[in-house]
Amino acid sequence: MSERTDKARPRVLVLGGGFGGIGAAQKLGKSAVDVVLVDKHDYHTFQPLLYQVATGLLEQPAVGHPIRDLFHGQDNARLHKDRVAAIDLDKREVQFAELGSVGYDYLVLGLGAEVNFFGVEGAAEHSFPLYTLADAVRLKNQVLRLWEAADKDPALIDDGALNIVVVGGGPTGVETAGALAELYSGNFRKDFPDIDEAAARITLVEAGPEIFSMFKPELRNYAVEALTKRGVEVTTGEVVESITPQRVKLKSGQELRAHTLVWGAGLQGNALVQSLGLDLERGNRIAVDAELRLPSHPEVLVVGDVAAITDSKTQQVLPQLGSVALQSGEHAGETIARLAEGKEPKPFKYRDKGTMATIGRGSAVVQMLGGRTMKGKSAQVAWATVHLALLPTNENRAKAVVDWAGAGLTHQRSARISVET
Ligand SMILES: Cc1cc2nc3c(=O)[nH]c(=O)nc-3n(C[C@H](O)[C@H](O)[C@H](O)COP(=O)(O)OP(=O)(O)OC[C@H]3O[C@@H](n4cnc5c(N)ncnc54)[C@H](O)[C@@H]3O)c2cc1C
Repeated sequence: MSERTDKARPRVLVLGGGFGGIGAAQKLGKSAVDVVLVDKHDYHTFQPLLYQVATGLLEQPAVGHPIRDLFHGQDNARLHKDRVAAIDLDKREVQFAELGSVGYDYLVLGLGAEVNFFGVEGAAEHSFPLYTLADAVRLKNQVLRLWEAADKDPALIDDGALNIVVVGGGPTGVETAGALAELYSGNFRKDFPDIDEAAARITLVEAGPEIFSMFKPELRNYAVEALTKRGVEVTTGEVVESITPQRVKLKSGQELRAHTLVWGAGLQGNALVQSLGLDLERGNRIAVDAELRLPSHPEVLVVGDVAAITDSKTQQVLPQLGSVALQSGEHAGETIARLAEGKEPKPFKYRDKGTMATIGRGSAVVQMLGGRTMKGKSAQVAWATVHLALLPTNENRAKAVVDWAGAGLTHQRSARISVET
């Protein structure tokens, strides 16, 4: 890596340009440090809206934003698109695929999570996870391709080509199933007048006794009703055993004909953390102290999905959410700024904005910290407000509002096109 930094100033190496990494790097804008942020992509991915890309509601640039854009006004920051290959905590060095070895004074670890297939046979090879922008585009292209094919060859419909199984009754699975159902009934019904809409089934499969286990029973029931109203079949207490390109086998012995299986069943911390020799919490997450530092290496701060952060109020590990990632990243940046000035760090305090998810147009659920709940249109407004605030720039916010308003008024999903590469 070219030597751009003033050696008298501490170098802060930020790994990952997600909510966590960007929050940390931006909070260091006025500090006497040099910030180097590295991500394997040249864009920041807004994961909460990936399902809207997969279902043609939003275009890719509304969900993937150039990371460099976010630092135009920050003179002490340098950005690189590169892949982290290894981290040596004792030597305070990170090995990158192209940059080679880069040393640091402070390290912010914000590498996020990755999909956990739980060893289900065929899941890694044949399923469609929804974790990256590439995943969202791949799912959209698969669905569009199958409808075009079935329109030409109706025998494919009997074989289940248009059926989709969505695995996982958490927010990712529910949001995706709801949006796919609206794409089917709102758009494809008119796009493909010769295909009987009733012949295309969307099934949500959840291993536990209920979907949305993190919500109160009234919100869970509401979600089941909202999905059912949209034509989604909700199956609980069923575990997916194996997946082939055209069939999904459940542990109960039932076999579902479906050429698309969306995997929304679980995440685990980035695989790189397994090589660090640390004791990891459930799901490969790194436990941190109250200031978000690694107890064994206090110059390393861990933020976002890869961190197991214990909430000082509830003593529970915080969920893998955008607001947790952003707030923990910002806190890490502030902590490094304080340390660089010789000040003591402060403990992290999470400001809970509530747990929320949207099921479809006009249907959402919100559960606030004190237990207050909202559902329906008011919950959707709250969901949109919180998620707009998380979007990185005003331009992204404006674009999302225009697209959401357009889709709400016209039911159009104008991004439902497949572009050959
Ligand atoms: C489908 C989906 C829906 C969601 N919906 C919501 C929601 O509605 N509300 C909400 O609050 N949260 C939601 N979340 C969770 C939220 O998006 C995450 O908690 C948040 O993105 C975590 O931020 P992060 O910075 O920790 O990690 P990430 O955003 O994952 O960023 C990690 C970054 O590290 C980079 N990286 C990884 N490995 C390497 C490597 N080896 N080398 C270089 N770079 C690397 C990645 O490219 C990525 O940019 C959702 C998540 C998903 C997947």
